[in-house]
Amino acid sequence: MAPLDIAAKLGRRFALVGVASVVRMALSALDAAIWDALAVAAGLPLATLLGAKPRPIPAYNSSGLGLMSPEAAADEAEKLLAGGFRSVKLRLGHPTLEEDLAVTRAVRKRLPDVIELPVDYNQALTVTEAIRRGRALESEGIAWLEEPIRHDDYVGSAAVARALAVPVQIGENFNGPESMVEALGAAACDYVMPDAARIGGVTGWIQAAGIAAGHRIEMSSHLLPEISAHLLAATPTCHYLEYVDWADAILEEPLQIVDGFARVPDRPGIGLTWRPEAVKSFAADRS
Ligand SMILES: [Mg+2]
Repeated sequence: MAPLDIAAKLGRRFALVGVASVVRMALSALDAAIWDALAVAAGLPLATLLGAKPRPIPAYNSSGLGLMSPEAAADEAEKLLAGGFRSVKLRLGHPTLEEDLAVTRAVRKRLPDVIELPVDYNQALTVTEAIRRGRALESEGIAWLEEPIRHDDYVGSAAVARALAVPVQIGENFNGPESMVEALGAAACDYVMPDAARIGGVTGWIQAAGIAAGHRIEMSSHLLPEISAHLLAATPTCHYLEYVDWADAILEEPLQIVDGFARVPDRPGIGLTWRPEAVKSFAADRS
């Protein structure tokens, strides 16, 4: 097959994958909106409607700690403990293993031993490099190794998970619960962390929670902490809520974190009330 034909075929394939992903995200949003409306109509918090008891959910602060120097990362990690967080997430994937180690050690040294430190590679490594860096990081006190390689290479991820003692975490790019079935069937990871907007909204999440429970795998959330707090309350193998404060500016009552735990609001539905003037100020100018 000529190179141009291969490129065209690959282009079509990736276009289809992209369309499927966008459609799933649109349907996830619609699904969440319908569940929210149902819970509001019933006068119940979403977690209660799902059969769960609203309860504090352990959260880690994921609001910062991008790729930065060791000193800057240590300073920022310390600040992220405000609110009583007992875990903060560090992004890695510097050009060399030595740089990753230097940043990890600087942060680890600055944080009390009881603070957990998951690290996230955002798909930056090859399988071989993931095993090399993972082995070097295992003795540095990290809680998990997140998305070390491309998100859809479950065979490669299984090889990484087999080679390492530190847990491998994936799932933010699962496109529906069927992705989780495929990943867990391949033993691609030790932990999962779906994104409510990609897994299929509330309906997809509840299916995924059952799949994780069946595999006895701890399940965390990816972003969207306001809805994820409700969903994790209804997750049998609930692990951690990924906390970011990105929506706080447009909400009347932002998600509360107390002593490192997210408080599931007892308001009906998901419990979101927009601040219209703030939403307007962030709206894109389409004129
Ligand atoms: Mg991640």
